Amino acid sequence: MASELAVAETAEAGRDFIRDIIHAGLAAKTYTEIVTRFPPEPNGYLHIGHAKSIALNFGIAQEFPGHCNLRFDDTNPIKEEQEYIDSIQADVRWLGYDWGENLFYASDNFDQLYEWAEGLIRKGLAYVDDQSQEEIRAARGTLTEPGRNSPHRERSVEENLDLFRRMKAGEFANGARVMRPKIDMASANINMRDPVLYRILHATHPRTGDKWSIYPSYDYAHGQSDAIEGITHSLCTLEFEDHRPLYDWFIDKLPVPSHPRQYEFARLNLTYTLLSKRVLTLLVRDRHVSGWDDPRMPTIAGLRRRGVPPGAIREFIKRIGVAKANSVVDVGMLEFCIREELNRTAPRRMAVLRPLKVVIENYPEGQIEEIEAINHPDDPSAGTRRIAFGRELFIERDDFMENPPKKFFRLSPGAEVRLRYAYFIRCREVIKNAAGEVVELRCSYDPATRGGNAPDGRKVKATLHWLPAAQARPAEIRLYNQLFSNPSPDAANFVADLNPRSLEILRDARIEPAIADSNSAAVMQFERQGYFARDPDSTADRPIFNRTIGLRDTFAKEVSGKG
Ligand code: ATP
Ligand code: MG
Repeated sequence: MASELAVAETAEAGRDFIRDIIHAGLAAKTYTEIVTRFPPEPNGYLHIGHAKSIALNFGIAQEFPGHCNLRFDDTNPIKEEQEYIDSIQADVRWLGYDWGENLFYASDNFDQLYEWAEGLIRKGLAYVDDQSQEEIRAARGTLTEPGRNSPHRERSVEENLDLFRRMKAGEFANGARVMRPKIDMASANINMRDPVLYRILHATHPRTGDKWSIYPSYDYAHGQSDAIEGITHSLCTLEFEDHRPLYDWFIDKLPVPSHPRQYEFARLNLTYTLLSKRVLTLLVRDRHVSGWDDPRMPTIAGLRRRGVPPGAIREFIKRIGVAKANSVVDVGMLEFCIREELNRTAPRRMAVLRPLKVVIENYPEGQIEEIEAINHPDDPSAGTRRIAFGRELFIERDDFMENPPKKFFRLSPGAEVRLRYAYFIRCREVIKNAAGEVVELRCSYDPATRGGNAPDGRKVKATLHWLPAAQARPAEIRLYNQLFSNPSPDAANFVADLNPRSLEILRDARIEPAIADSNSAAVMQFERQGYFARDPDSTADRPIFNRTIGLRDTFAKEVSGKG
């Protein structure tokens, strides 16, 4: 293990201790094919932590001869739903991975698992226990004290078989009995103290319906499903390291068709983020967010709705690598990968989030001219588009200050700025409403500065984005910040750590007609504002855009109130 650790820590991107083990196994001809699997329990939507496991398992299948199975570990019908099965498949595909024919369900193995369980009883290696859940828990012992044997542990094979069959036949109430392997109640590893293999549960299963009144535990179903599928490398997160002896015990005792080996890697943890399905389920259930695909959620569905491209998630996973020691990754790293991809791919547009009207007094009334704007500064093939320029415009409210501090170079009374692709304008007069709020700026423009430069060589320090007042279209814009304001939110009391400013809705924004008229799902850069994705709630006359991410990292400042 020490050598594995050393390898992990010196690994280059795309090479890690698991891939090293695989390379070595192939070289030694231990295997000719590598078979991995991604084994979600369909009890929630996938999150970015799962993406790490998906990229690892499916990535290995792409790099080496072999394949990766998608297997639903559907052993708990109470929490599992078809909606989750469907969303998981959609999300894995969206991330860019394909299981082909290799779709499996642990529930497909229920008959086989049951048969093997009877086999354990016949060999005297398992028993039916009549103790309640509480009694079993109380007798399990602690890390420092051994457990106590159940009074039912020495039942005869015949009695055990009879009771187990009657459990299966539905004769007993939920919780009345369980079936346990006879391992070692004094084991230093609590997982080996006769863990529950089967429990009585009169529940309808999404796939097997009412056929079963008993269900196998995850620990029992998981390893045997791997063995049935011929998994060579059973990759899971570190918390299952202590379960490995149990999995190996089953593999050793049962007539399984193959012997998978389990390797554990570190879970992905992110700052400002909780990646526990329990917490995510509560966020949805208690309406702290609008649903599993709320753009503030760390779910794949949320990230997609927010406009995060799948390539940015893959790049992020590649950069963080796979190691054997748990750590917390700065969410800024994910944001960096999102910006990096979108900066390359997103067409540029102009939008005014909080409009302030500008009237250019020396611009002829009724005149409109077309200004050419480039679609991507680094990609001439992206072409140009035309934007109407006229006497009445909108600029960003934040780009004007009546009493500017010294370093404010944008618009203020008497100051001159450049309007992107258009002209220099100078602010002549500030119009206020009865409440004293600035509602309009009266400006002049210099016709000689068309295109953005002054023939006399005079400079301006700011270039503002703008839109023509008559042609700009209304839009709703949803600005997102971190869902939690605590860098390490407390999973046990997460409500207290929710960021009250995680969502800001701007209902009176304006966008270029070219944005409104495009049905493209592509994320766009709204110049100087960030990257924005059309939300599926949009209607023809009310487009809605989600801010995927700002251009720079301003969050730390906003939280501390210094922004
Ligand atoms: P939770 O602990 O929140 O309930 P889970 O791990 O039980 O989530 P599963 O559906 O069992 O959810 O996960 C499927 C696979 O994804 C497992 O192999 C699991 O180890 C892996 N996985 C889950 N969360 C992470 C994470 N944060 N980082 C890496 N892999 C993860
Ligand atoms: Mg799990």
